[in-house]
Formats: sequence, C-alpha cells, structure tokens
Amino acid sequence: MKCALVRPDGVVVRTERHPTDAARGPAAVVGTILDVAGGLADKARADGLTPIAVGIAVPGVVDEARGVAVWSANVGFRDVPLRDLTVKRLGLPTALGHDVRVGGLAEARLGAGRGTGHVLFVAIGTGIAAAHVVDGTAAVGAHGAAGEIGHILVRPDGPRCGCGRPGCLEAMASAAAIGRRYAELAGDTVDAPVTAAEVAERAAAGEPLAGQVWQEAVEALADGLASGQALFDVATIVLGGGLAQAGDRLLIPLRAALHERMTFHREPQLVAAALGDEAGCLGAALLALDAVGVRDLQEKR
Ligand SMILES: [Zn+2]
Repeated sequence: MKCALVRPDGVVVRTERHPTDAARGPAAVVGTILDVAGGLADKARADGLTPIAVGIAVPGVVDEARGVAVWSANVGFRDVPLRDLTVKRLGLPTALGHDVRVGGLAEARLGAGRGTGHVLFVAIGTGIAAAHVVDGTAAVGAHGAAGEIGHILVRPDGPRCGCGRPGCLEAMASAAAIGRRYAELAGDTVDAPVTAAEVAERAAAGEPLAGQVWQEAVEALADGLASGQALFDVATIVLGGGLAQAGDRLLIPLRAALHERMTFHREPQLVAAALGDEAGCLGAALLALDAVGVRDLQEKR
C-alpha cells in the first residue's frame, strides 16, 4: 500500500508504504487500510496540519458513487463498503476510486497529459488497464468497470487470457505475456525466466528472438491503442506501468505502429507517464479534494 499526506497545493508532506499481505484475507486488508489512514491523519494533526478528506484507491471493480469495492481478484474484495467504513472510523469525507483510474486522473491533470483535455492513460504491467479522462474527470462506467482495454480482442487465435477468452490484448502484450512468449519460443535455450524489460534490452541489443517477441507485443499494443483512439479520440495517450519504463524502446516503435493504423482518425501524442510511483497517491488526493470541492492541486502544482 502506497500512502501519502498531500496538501491541497500539491505538496506531498509525507509518504508511507505498508505491506498489503492479501493472503490474510479481505477483512484484514480493510483493517490495515483503516489503521494506516487513521495513523496518517493523526500524524498530520501532530504536525499542526488539518486533514480535510481521505482518498482511497483499490484494484478491481469499484463503484465510486456508492463507495464500494465491488470485486477484486488480487485482494478478494466482495462488496466492501470501504467509503462508509472510512467515514465511520476517521470522521472525514472520503472518496473511493480505482487504482488505474486515479493514476490516470493524476497523469491527466498533473503529469504527462496535463493541459491536453482528453487523455487515455494505459497502465501496462502484469495486466493492462486504462483510464479515459476528459477535462479532469475519469469515466467510471455504469458498473464501475470502464477502461478494461486489456480485454479488447486483438488476436482471435491468440493465447488464452486470465479472463478466460483467447486473444485479449493483455494476453499478448502485458509484461507477463511478453515474458511468457519469450520463454515459449526460447524453449530450452534459456535456463532462467526472462522479464519483459530484459526482452526489451535483448531486442535493442539485436537478439532476433527478443526482437520478434517485442515487435509482436508492440503490434498488439498498437491494435489495442488504435481501438482506444477510434472510441475516444484523445489528444494524448499516456503509457504507465512497468512496461512504460522501457521508454523509447517501447515508445518509438509503438508510435510508428500506431501511425500506420490511423486512417481518418487523428493521431494522438504518445508519451510516457511522468509521475511514476506518486501517481496513485496524487490521484487519490485529487479524488478526495474533488469530493469536498477543492481543486487547488490542479492549478497550483
Ligand atoms: Zn481477457
């Protein structure tokens, strides 16, 4: 769990990390969230600051309007009324958001998409998910499940995805998928697992197999992003998550592949995320401040 005390002017006063340890079960995780939030509020008061709101972001399906963590594969949440529990415990206005959507919110308002109005933030890590942000607000969807770009079908005959269907973008181009594909093609020629970052490095160094695997992933990503652009017509696509740390090794071929796929569509800028590890905490803070009608963070930072 990444946690921060953020002032309305955007200054991060304090950061903390705590183990989620999801194996303890969802009730214990919720207990830790409440303890950590309460502890941060106490530390703020001890420093002479006045906590005004709490923002919490969790993975999975999140009903932001009701403040409920509806479902999460990783943490095991099933209809947890996290907002009400936090209000009860801390006595502060609380906003509940989705981890990728708040990251997108922060990148769109404070980071790489700042000033461009219409932003698609795509986080590529173990999985792939997106947030569509228009004028500083991330679309949530009717059921709290907007932005699942990782489950766009890009290769009907492709490998089976974690969701159960074959050929999803996530099954072709997530960091995990790239590592798996390399291992599959390399067979006995490698004795240890090769990560996506290493595939990128080997590709850049001219290794043909790595080059092939990287290019396959780039082509699949370009198909997914082209679908995203057809739907949303954004000014900027911001790439975040672990894979985006490949930098130009990803951005340069991906820009070219996306360019090839644009017909009448306007080509978006394709850029790397700018806020790194801070995006989630800043986005949760933005959501909390939005909930109490404070928008200073956006203008002052
Ligand atoms: Zn899928």
